Amino acid sequence: MSTNSFAFKDSQTQERFNEWRRPSRLKQISAISILTASLYLIFAYVTKSFIPADILPLATLVHVYLVPSILIVIALLAYFKIRYLLMTFLLIIAPIVAATGNMLIVSEFEGYTTYQTELYLIIFWVFTVSGLKFIHALLSGLLIYISATISAYLIYPMNTEAFVLHSFWMIAALSFGILSGYLLESSQKTIFLKKEELEKIAITDRLTGLYNRVMFDKVVKDELEKFKRYKRTFGLMILDIDFFKDVNDSYGHLVGDDVLLEFTKIIKRYTRSSDTVIRWGGEEFIIISLEVDKDGLITLAEHIRKKVEEHNFKTVGKKTVSIGLTLNKESDDINSILQRTDQALYISKNSGRNSTNFLY
Ligand code: GH3
Ligand code: MG
Ligand code: MG
Repeated sequence: MSTNSFAFKDSQTQERFNEWRRPSRLKQISAISILTASLYLIFAYVTKSFIPADILPLATLVHVYLVPSILIVIALLAYFKIRYLLMTFLLIIAPIVAATGNMLIVSEFEGYTTYQTELYLIIFWVFTVSGLKFIHALLSGLLIYISATISAYLIYPMNTEAFVLHSFWMIAALSFGILSGYLLESSQKTIFLKKEELEKIAITDRLTGLYNRVMFDKVVKDELEKFKRYKRTFGLMILDIDFFKDVNDSYGHLVGDDVLLEFTKIIKRYTRSSDTVIRWGGEEFIIISLEVDKDGLITLAEHIRKKVEEHNFKTVGKKTVSIGLTLNKESDDINSILQRTDQALYISKNSGRNSTNFLY
C-alpha cells in the first residue's frame, strides 16, 4: 500500500486514517492555538516599549487582536469538535494573517531584520506543530513564502545583502518545514498501517484466515447489546469435525491442516457475508448468523452438513461434521449461549455424529 504523504491510494484507507488521526489532531490544535495566542500576547507586551509609536497601533491590531482572536476561535472549534472545515480553513489562514501582519509592520521601520525571525518561526510552526495535514501545511507555507518573497522585494526598504539573507533563511525554513512535515505524516501513516495490520492479526486465525475467538467475544457481545434494544435475534452454530484426530493419526498433521482448509472453504461458500465465521480452536468452528429464525438456522446447518458429507477431501476422502445450534434469548449472556450451543453439539455427537441439533 502506498504511503506517500498526500493521500493513500485507496480512499477508504485514507478516510480511516483521517478518523484515527482526528481526535489527537484536534487536541493538538486546541493546545497549540492557545499556546500561540498567549505567546503573541506576551510578544506584544514585551515589544510595546520599543516598537516605534507610529507602528504601535498596527502592531497591536495584529499581535493583540487579529492573530490571537483567530487562534482562540480555532482552539474553541477544535476543543468542542465542531465546524471542522471552518477550523481547518482558519488554521490555514491564521499563519498567513500573522505573516502578512509581520510584513506590514516590518515594512514600516528600519529594524525589520530583527523582526523577520517571526516569519521563519511561522513557517516552521505551520509544518511541525500546527496540526495541519501536510497538504494544507504545504498550501499555507507556500503562500507565506511567495507573498513574503514578493513583498520583501517590492515593499521593504531592503538592501541586497538583507534581501539575499532573508531569502536564504526563508528557503531554509521552508525546506526544513516541508521535510519535517512530510516525515511526520509519513511516519503517522506507517504507524496507522501497522496498527491496522496488528488489529487484523489479533482477530485472525493463522491457519484458515477465519476470525478467531477475539472476534467471537466482540460480535456476540455487540449482538447481545443490540438484542436488548432492537429485539433482533441471532443464531449460533458450532461445527465439530467428526473423528478428526484419526486424520492426524493416520496421515499426519499437514494433511489434517489441509482438511481444515477444505472444510473452511465449504463453510465460507455456504455462509452469507453477514455471517461471522470463526475458528473456535482445533477442528471446531462457530458461525454467528444474524437475523435468522430457527428454521433458517437449521436449513443452513443441514446444508453445510450435507455438503461436507458429499465432499471428497484430498488424501482422506470422506469426513463428516456434527453441529450444535441455538438462538439467543432474553436471559442470555455470552457464556450461557455458548454453553447451550455446546450442549446441542454434545447431543449430535452422542446420537451417532454427522447430525444437527437445535437447543433453546
Ligand atoms: P470427535 O468426533 O469426538 O470430535 O473426535 P475428534 O477426533 O474430532 O476430536 P478430538 O477433540 O479428540 O480431536 C481433535 C484433534 O484436532 C486433536 C488435535 O490434535 C487436532 N488438532 C487441533 N488443532 C489442529 C490443527 O491446527 N491442525 C491439525 N492438523 N490438527 C489439529
Ligand atoms: Mg473437538
Ligand atoms: Mg471433532
